[in-house]
Amino acid sequence: MRFCEGKNTSAWAILCLSAICVLPLVGCGGNESTIAQIPPYAGSRPGKMEPLRPPPVATPNRPTPAPLTGQAAWVPSVGISKRWKYIVVHHSANNRDTPEKMRDWHMRGRGWDELGYHFVIGNGVAYGDGQVYVGNRWKKQMHGAHCKTPGNQYNDYGIGICLIGDFQSSRPTPKQVASLAKLMSFLSSQCNVPQSRIMTHGGITHKTACPGRNFSLGPVLKQMTQYRASTH
Ligand SMILES: [Zn+2]
Repeated sequence: MRFCEGKNTSAWAILCLSAICVLPLVGCGGNESTIAQIPPYAGSRPGKMEPLRPPPVATPNRPTPAPLTGQAAWVPSVGISKRWKYIVVHHSANNRDTPEKMRDWHMRGRGWDELGYHFVIGNGVAYGDGQVYVGNRWKKQMHGAHCKTPGNQYNDYGIGICLIGDFQSSRPTPKQVASLAKLMSFLSSQCNVPQSRIMTHGGITHKTACPGRNFSLGPVLKQMTQYRASTH
């Protein structure tokens, strides 16, 4: 065993006795630390470990999506079928109609599976002026039930649009006409239906006054062209 240099030799005996067990452990050099001064183990002790938690994740705000408006609401989630060849315009023959009332009549009164038309446009009496109602037939891209002919081609391939109102005794509102022009412009371009195949119910069957003597398709087609020109 070798003792450190510089230690007081007069205390050699005491040191020898008191430190005989310590010296081999602490060794030499200027280090004055002893076992008692060794800092306690700072790590976690078993039984007191903090449970591991995942890092906090910011919860994104996901507000309910706003209902689609304008032309976006006219695009069905199933996509637009290639079946459509015609657009047929009707009136409801009642100024106080609503799409829901008409649907109820078609289903309960006539036993149909749905509202017969694909779209309904309000007149501001019981349903919004110029407001376009998108029927389930359009949402599902189903055939219509609005213009019966021997070959049934206008029901099978025709998009039915009904304006609320009795145009035998009243007139469509300017907002109704504007919405009809916008809707027909959209449908005409999306479904490749030329103006020559945009017709009225009575113009096809010649058996009904629908959509009424006060409805004229010409000004709507003209407005439709202007609308289309202004969006290009
Ligand atoms: Zn009709």
